[in-house]
Amino acid sequence: MARSRTTLTVQHTIRLTDHLIRVHLGGPGFASFHPNEFTDAYVKLVFPGPDGETVRTYTVRSVDPAAEEIAIDFVYHGDEGVAGPWAAAAEPGDTIELMGPGGAYAPRADADWYLLAGDESALPAIAAACAALPSDAVGSVFVEIAGPADELAFVHPEGVDLTWVHRGDTAPGQLLAAAVRSEPWRDGQVHVFIHGEAEAVMHNLRPYVRKDHGVPADWASISGYWRRGRTEEGFRRWKAELAETEKAAPAGV
Ligand SMILES: Cc1cc2nc3c(=O)[nH]c(=O)nc-3n(C[C@H](O)[C@H](O)[C@H](O)COP(=O)(O)OP(=O)(O)OC[C@H]3O[C@@H](n4cnc5c(N)ncnc54)[C@H](O)[C@@H]3O)c2cc1C
Repeated sequence: MARSRTTLTVQHTIRLTDHLIRVHLGGPGFASFHPNEFTDAYVKLVFPGPDGETVRTYTVRSVDPAAEEIAIDFVYHGDEGVAGPWAAAAEPGDTIELMGPGGAYAPRADADWYLLAGDESALPAIAAACAALPSDAVGSVFVEIAGPADELAFVHPEGVDLTWVHRGDTAPGQLLAAAVRSEPWRDGQVHVFIHGEAEAVMHNLRPYVRKDHGVPADWASISGYWRRGRTEEGFRRWKAELAETEKAAPAGV
């Protein structure tokens, strides 16, 4: 990912659902923002603070070259944290520095079917992937959200079934994992994209896809986007520890 910084200006914000805020960013800095080919393109947002800078990772939901804007959908998960509260308070004219975009996934045209799953934090990347699927694509999409007020319409091929999973009071990712596991596994080569709360994704859905169904690594984009009870810094440590543990005792996934 490009480490040079771009400064973008808030153009306007939209409250999409109870927990999702779209921030349109543009201004003079847009000229130095260079989009990539990935549907999970992400940027590192830099928030200045009294104790130094805080960096948070966000998907580029869309790029509009005509309007010279990008859109980012922020989960508003309460008053805790840096990025969520920033998005809730953002006003036209505010500026933010960012690095990137990076990215790793775009739906492969040679897949027989697609499995995409995640929570609100992965909904921007899932929606961008669905918009890029061939019109005759088949597959399943599962999105876990707090409840019915968080459902957000997005374009997906007719042959791709969309299931909204309402979390209610359950721990993030639990019902998502149960929904994915209860879906009959289709025949043929699958291309998988699963991201969201790290425990549910890495310790539940990843072994289900990689070990139980034998999906090779290059057909499966699976990782945590955040970790319950940890800030992004704490989550980065959790990921590093997990990588070390798996290096010492490979789990085969
Ligand atoms: C590649 C990538 C792309 C991502 N894209 C998006 C995106 O498009 N939109 C998006 O909203 N997030 C996205 N995320 C997740 C986002 O980076 C984290 O949720 C981040 O922790 C939010 O920062 P914060 O400052 O709001 O909260 P932090 O300061 O990091 O955390 C404060 C507290 O809030 C909790 N928390 C953090 N995120 C959530 C959440 N989603 N739901 C409930 N509680 C939470 C933490 O566990 C912690 O207890 C992405 C992550 C990655 C790695």
